[in-house]
Amino acid sequence: MAQRMLQFTHLPQQTPHKREAEERRADFGEIYARFDQTGAEAQASRCSQCGIPFCSIHCPLSNNIPDWLKLTAEGRLEEAYEVSSATNTFPEICGRICPQDRLCEGNCVIEKGFESVTIGAVERYITDTAFEKGWVKPIRALVEQAQSVGIIGAGPAGLAAAEALRRQGYKVTVYDRHDRVGGLLIYGIPGFKLEKDIVLRRWKWLEEGGVEFVLNADIGGKISFASLREKHDAVLVATGVYKAREISGPGAGLPGIVPALDYLITSNRQTLGDSVPDFDSGKLNAAGKNVVVIGGGDTAMDCVRTAVRQGAKSVTCLYRRDRQNMPGSLREVKNAEDEGVVFTWLAAPEAFLGDTTVTGVRATRMHLGLPDASGRQSVDPIAGSSFTVEADLVIKALGFDPEDMPGAFNEPALKLTGWGTLKVNAKTFMSNLPGVFAAGDIVRGASLVVWAIRDGRDAATAIHDFIQAQSLAQAAE
Ligand code: FAD
Ligand code: SF4
Ligand code: SF4
Repeated sequence: MAQRMLQFTHLPQQTPHKREAEERRADFGEIYARFDQTGAEAQASRCSQCGIPFCSIHCPLSNNIPDWLKLTAEGRLEEAYEVSSATNTFPEICGRICPQDRLCEGNCVIEKGFESVTIGAVERYITDTAFEKGWVKPIRALVEQAQSVGIIGAGPAGLAAAEALRRQGYKVTVYDRHDRVGGLLIYGIPGFKLEKDIVLRRWKWLEEGGVEFVLNADIGGKISFASLREKHDAVLVATGVYKAREISGPGAGLPGIVPALDYLITSNRQTLGDSVPDFDSGKLNAAGKNVVVIGGGDTAMDCVRTAVRQGAKSVTCLYRRDRQNMPGSLREVKNAEDEGVVFTWLAAPEAFLGDTTVTGVRATRMHLGLPDASGRQSVDPIAGSSFTVEADLVIKALGFDPEDMPGAFNEPALKLTGWGTLKVNAKTFMSNLPGVFAAGDIVRGASLVVWAIRDGRDAATAIHDFIQAQSLAQAAE
């Protein structure tokens, strides 16, 4: 039944059903169910239709949230889908994995004492339903252009740009070194946050719209960067950041100490049905092991929860700051705790024990000191506070830095920032090399899917302007 708006005063916030921890520990399926029609309409009707919607202001895509909430509440779901998909290339993905508590929902202003509107869950419901009802049509260009664009990287930044450029009529080829499309959506983020079918569905949709994919293609290796520049009228670099930050200390090189992404990629491949020798041999498999994960970000949370699902004997997360000062989402910490993960806050590794393989981590207790100029408190070890945690598998999840892109591309002229990310003009997304653009994590550093989508869309607009200006200039010659 169609709902009136402003229902938050008497209708409590209701999130979609969350599976019990005991049940979800046993598989890699998503932990949240989807709203049904009644639930989605009721929750959307809680919105107070703010004149200045802070939810939209704090959404990196400036989604027209109040509009699609109202249309959902009124049962006009196909129109809600049209509005939602106009600003977001992958609404069903953002609805699942955006940290809404820090973005749209965290800034929802319905009166104090009432919980925010469940924006993410409604966004997901709209597009999942649109796929089921056949409202999601393949991309159709109004005119076909003569020019082509090469995109390096099939993650959310590259895919969002591919969609927008294809819609403008360009021939779009996306190159990726992996064998599947999606970047971290397919091989980084585990299925319990984002089921793989959701990503595979978008791959098919892009192909149906005419985007060409060249997979198992390491640019700079098998195919040179220079050849892409020759082949295409513009090139977009959307390669993400993959260089794992290292741990130091005695024993840091022992077998059994592994990088987070190697571990997650192996697990994701295994759940996709691939045969993965490092999983079968036990090297990157937590089954029956005491697992210690070092780090406090979203990657660390994904590792601890993956280890639980693989049947680890125990899973401990060591983080040098406390719960309030961790970079990862508190919602994910709560989910991990419910699933049996032990968090040891204010603890940092000082040595890794073992002869032929790791058997334990010796850690020191830390305390938080005075804030520095950026406001972040220092962390200092407490003398004589060492303790040991048993470990057969240690996963390093301390964050990522960019790879050496000029080196990887054999293009020493390509300019970098002081952080090692690609340097681009903030308005045109173009690097110092004419016709070479960049977007996503390789420009921002490790960030979020929603920002990668935003950058991909904006870069596509800039590439369109560039190509059109080039062809006008050529015509005038
Ligand atoms: P990527 O997704 O990294 O894609 C880059 C692509 O480029 C990859 O497919 C790679 O194979 C390809 N590539 C790289 N070099 C080459 C080359 N030389 N030749 C060919 N191809 C190449 N964000 C959220 O919003 N919510 C989350 O819950 C979340 N969870 C995360 C969990 C983990 C474990 C990690 C690591 C990140 C998470 N993030 C999350 C961050 C998010 O995944 C990234 O910010 C986002 O994927 C960046 O998109 P991108 O397109 O720039 O790069
Ligand atoms: Fe919220 Fe992300 Fe959707 Fe924007 S894209 S409305 S931040 S869930
Ligand atoms: Fe609706 Fe909250 Fe956005 Fe206001 S801030 S428009 S109440 S979702």
